Amino acid sequence: MASALCLPVHAQDKVLNLYSARHYQTDEVMYDTFTKTTGIKINRVDADDAGILARLRAEGAASPADVILLVDAARLASAESQGLFQPIRSAKLDAAIPAHLRADNGEGGVTWTGFSTRARVIVYDPLRVKREAVATYEQLADPALKGMVCTRSGSHPYNLSLFATVIERMGDERGEAWLKGVVGNMARTPKGGDTDQIKAVASGECGVAVTNSYYAARLLKSTKPEDRAVMEKVRVVFPNQSTSGTHVNIAGAGVARHAKNRENAIVFMEFLASPFAQDYFANGNNEFPAAKGVKVENPALKAMGGDSFKAETIPLGVVAKNLTKVQQMLDRVGYK
Ligand code: FE
Repeated sequence: MASALCLPVHAQDKVLNLYSARHYQTDEVMYDTFTKTTGIKINRVDADDAGILARLRAEGAASPADVILLVDAARLASAESQGLFQPIRSAKLDAAIPAHLRADNGEGGVTWTGFSTRARVIVYDPLRVKREAVATYEQLADPALKGMVCTRSGSHPYNLSLFATVIERMGDERGEAWLKGVVGNMARTPKGGDTDQIKAVASGECGVAVTNSYYAARLLKSTKPEDRAVMEKVRVVFPNQSTSGTHVNIAGAGVARHAKNRENAIVFMEFLASPFAQDYFANGNNEFPAAKGVKVENPALKAMGGDSFKAETIPLGVVAKNLTKVQQMLDRVGYK
């Protein structure tokens, strides 16, 4: 009788409910390995970032979510401000992941942790623009680039995060003037995603664009000749190499506020930081590992210079702090 009573508890102990905004085939192998090693079964809810946040809000305290996996610090910050995470403390995670890639809650806890990184790089047309003219983010506001700059919407999380760290470095006044300068240099009203910006540089519509590194790597590795032809026409710069370093963002995760399997959630997050999981997690989307000392061979990233660049080390927690301010600045300077 006693064992019959124990069984359901044990069964419940060996489960993890993962709400994930990432879905790559390589992640599957990683999750299977986690279950084989720990005996913890993963139930996954896959949706995009906005869908996951909406679902968590609707479920409230009844939510079965244990781990929430989102893409970009701006989205993690937004989930944080909605109270969807609970802080944790893990010596293993503290040792594995650099401090600037996680959000400290200021009370000895960590709200979310980055598990892969991506660089926000500049792509340019070498026929129209010299490399020295786009060596920094600051130069995107330089009058020399008038009529040439293209980006996706300013209020997309990838840009919000970049602008949040630029403003952290420059201060509010210079930061807003910079945003205004970027808007003044635009070749067109922001539209499309990062890949569309790269293609618009290749087609000659834009001279300079901003993109996450994995989109460029994806085109380089594409089986479609037209994608590879796009990359032959453009050049990639990792900005701010002699100053603050290239802005690096993350895909990251935190333990859900109402997690029923908190211990399993922490074991899972520690697993994500292991060299084995880092390899799958990073390579699955042509990203870089977040854990210290883990190197991943990715020929496309290497070809772009992604094996040895200087990354920005401003704590990504500042994205949460500056998010509203950046949005207000975008409205004032007319950044669509
Ligand atoms: Fe993306």
